[in-house]
Amino acid sequence: MQKRNLKGLNLEELRQFVEALGEKPYRAQQIFKWIYGHGSHSFDDMTNLSKEFRGKLAKHADIIQLQLLTSQESSKDNTVKFLFQLHDGLRIESVLMFDGHRTTLCISTQAGCALDCKFCATGKMGLQRHLTPGEIVDQLLLAQSLSKRAISNVVCMGMGEPFHNYDNLMKACSLLSHDVGPNLAKRHIVVSTSGLVPQIIRFADEGHKYRLAISLNATVDEVRSEIMPLNRKWPIAELMKAAKYYTQKADQPVTFEYVLMERVNDFPEDAERLKEVAQGMFCKINLIPYNATEGTFRRPSEARIMQFYERMTSLRAPVTIRWSKGDDIEAGCGQLATKSNRGPADRAL
Ligand code: SF4
Repeated sequence: MQKRNLKGLNLEELRQFVEALGEKPYRAQQIFKWIYGHGSHSFDDMTNLSKEFRGKLAKHADIIQLQLLTSQESSKDNTVKFLFQLHDGLRIESVLMFDGHRTTLCISTQAGCALDCKFCATGKMGLQRHLTPGEIVDQLLLAQSLSKRAISNVVCMGMGEPFHNYDNLMKACSLLSHDVGPNLAKRHIVVSTSGLVPQIIRFADEGHKYRLAISLNATVDEVRSEIMPLNRKWPIAELMKAAKYYTQKADQPVTFEYVLMERVNDFPEDAERLKEVAQGMFCKINLIPYNATEGTFRRPSEARIMQFYERMTSLRAPVTIRWSKGDDIEAGCGQLATKSNRGPADRAL
């Protein structure tokens, strides 16, 4: 009989599992705490379970872990990029960032990505597969075991389009925020989408308290469709309607991410249009200077970035420039994954 992987099961599923083994339901909470609270992956650790029950668990179940292949630390800002291997050999990356009192982990939700955004290294890989809830959560559990500081925030902005893997993502978020597990505050979990309109509406209707970010990157359909092909299906007007619907339903701001690329979307008219788009919307804007990948795009000069920013400051919504962390180790926005999946690991642990 095939063993059941317990990593990724929620409390109710664990309850059903222990009951099927003839054990009392409260045992599920004990196992849940070991897996998600302590990051345990061996039944031997679970000392509040009888030896007999631990033996039964070992016979019928597994707690499958990601394998850490490499870890690279930025010499500029201590950002750490982890390369993990999944049980089927595919690889994903996560990035740990330190910012004052906050320690944030950027996690992946898919191996590769189907959406082919032209400025993104992950997009060039195509979609390999969706990550399971266990694989999404395990990035946090492993990174936490390797970090000296408590991870306070998670952003789903690594490899993959989170809303393309909606059900697994939502299950993972509920595990990450469970008070018997990692217990992250829901408002400290950010889900970033490139603009899947039906899922934005579903997210709003389901009343989740996680934060929403939308990767916008252009203010005219012609440009956005060129750099983000999914815009042909859900153009800017439709996306903005969904964003507004979310802010009204959730009573929370939406964050618009805007990757600044030289002579693509960094003209004064772009800044003016971005202001128009954001006007009257409960939102924040993050300007992200483009990080080099192997594509043809370039980061604008600092003067151009600052001019764009200055134009935006008359907007009532908060506007910030997010200088990417870890760009020297290719851990910045849009830089994840292709090299790691192409060749051998950089530095084996
Ligand atoms: S930016 Fe996000 S959605 Fe677009 S290709 Fe990259 S990972 Fe996929």
